[in-house]
Parts: sequence; C-alpha cells; structure tokens
Amino acid sequence: MKIFCIGRNYIDHAKELGNDVPSEPLIFMKPPTALLINNKPFYHPDFSENIHFECEMVIKIGKNGKNIAERFAPSYIKEIGLGIDFTARDIQDKLKAKGHPWEIAKGFNGSAVIGDFVPIEKFKDVNNINFHLLKNGEQVQTGNTADMIFNAAKLISHISKYFLVHQGDYIYTGTPAGVGKIEIGDVLEGFLEGESNFVCTIK
Ligand code: ZN
Repeated sequence: MKIFCIGRNYIDHAKELGNDVPSEPLIFMKPPTALLINNKPFYHPDFSENIHFECEMVIKIGKNGKNIAERFAPSYIKEIGLGIDFTARDIQDKLKAKGHPWEIAKGFNGSAVIGDFVPIEKFKDVNNINFHLLKNGEQVQTGNTADMIFNAAKLISHISKYFLVHQGDYIYTGTPAGVGKIEIGDVLEGFLEGESNFVCTIK
C-alpha cells in the first residue's frame, strides 16, 4: 500500500505559505507507518515545535493500473475519505531552504490521519465535495474539491505515469487555506459533506 500526497493543490493555500502555484502536480509520499487510523490520538513528537494540520480529501484506489488516461481515471476511485497531512513545518522550511527532500517533515509516525471511507457512488460529483475541519470546536479550514488546481482524474493520471497504482493506495489531494499549528490538548474533527469523519486528539 502506498500513500501519495499532493502539495500546493489549492491556490489560496499555496499563497498563504508564499509558494508558487505549480504547473503540474507536486507529488510526495508517506510510508505506511505514517497512517493513524480509528481515531487514535496523535502523540506530538519532540523533534518539531511547529507541526501543522492540513485537512485533505483522500482518494482510495480500487484497482491496479499504470499510465491511466485522464478519461478513465475516475473508474479507479473506489472510496472517498478525509484525513490530515501532519507537517513539521519548521523542519520542512529548513529542508526546503537547502533544496533537500521533505521526507522527515511529512512522513513521520502518525502523520497521515485517516477517517471513515465512503463509497464513491454516494457522491454526485468527486469534483464538488465539501469538507471542513474544526479545532477545539472552531472551524479552521473549509474546502471544496472544485477548487483543486488538479482534479482527482488529473492526479490519478499523472501519478500513474511514474508509479503503478494499486488497489488500496491512498491519495491525499492537498489542503485548502487555514493550516495552523497544533498544541498538546487540541482536538481536531474533520467533516466530509457535513458528516463527522474523524476525531484526532493531540497528546
Ligand atoms: Zn498536504
């Protein structure tokens, strides 16, 4: 199982971090050990003083493929979920400045929160899915997949040029604006189309 992630896929988020808007999808990966499931708490590691939440729509792939044409890509989506791409922003900024890979800032243990998956058939349009994130009961992020720079089909097609995609792989599709720092004691709750999808307590 692989976890693909997309960076800077919402214009407003790319801007809030002072990044350029990419001309093709920016792909990175997390190892399977990053997954945090079943509403388990996230234990704040001590190697970072600035871990950010990034709430993202997550695609679960339903069948194997490579070099998938965009027009066939939607048939590879099995389920839709919601998650958090935890990011050690202080470490990422240092690595970025040196032009080094981001792995440790993005792929650490528990950095890929994932909630419940919903069959794709339950959604009218994968390019019009609403989600939002509450931190301690206050809304901090809201997104709609219509605002993604590269939509689900484009992402699957692009990823599959370089990587075989397998049944059970995940794609974190990028975060809208509003990312911010977590503190021990915070409770993050993600909502997919208005329904609670995951709860993550920071310990
Ligand atoms: Zn992200």
